[in-house]
Amino acid sequence: MSRMRTITLIVIHCSATPEGRSLDFEACRMEHVRHRGFRDIGYHFYITRDGEIHHGRALERIGAHCKGHNRHSLGICYEGGLDVKGQPADTRTPQQRQGMLCLLRQLKRQFPHALIVGHHDLDPMKACPCFEAAKLNSELLTEDNAEESHPQNLEVEPP
Ligand SMILES: [Zn+2]
Repeated sequence: MSRMRTITLIVIHCSATPEGRSLDFEACRMEHVRHRGFRDIGYHFYITRDGEIHHGRALERIGAHCKGHNRHSLGICYEGGLDVKGQPADTRTPQQRQGMLCLLRQLKRQFPHALIVGHHDLDPMKACPCFEAAKLNSELLTEDNAEESHPQNLEVEPP
């Protein structure tokens, strides 16, 4: 069992799969193994159009998804990112949006200081993930507030 790495970034990607086409988890994994020469899929999570979250690399292991930023990051990829004409587009299905938020909420619990960014934010030459991923940081905050049915600050200031 290897030690957990320090995680400062959660990087969102798209698979650059046009609408109407599919690239399931196994196909994505094989693409990375066969064509890019990786030992395993480069991402830690892959979210298919049906919203299902597939586990790729173990979190302890350094991914292969964002040049120069792999060591301290996690990589999440959603299936899609291109419209029917092959142009960059936010093609996330409602199930994918929900799955992504759910996954990010869990990860933020485990890595509270990790910042969510898009691949594009780290490499402006890429359109990936074809939506403003950094907005997810505030989306999660709004969700937390909406969910505040149980007290979160049990350890309030001493009297
Ligand atoms: Zn990417």
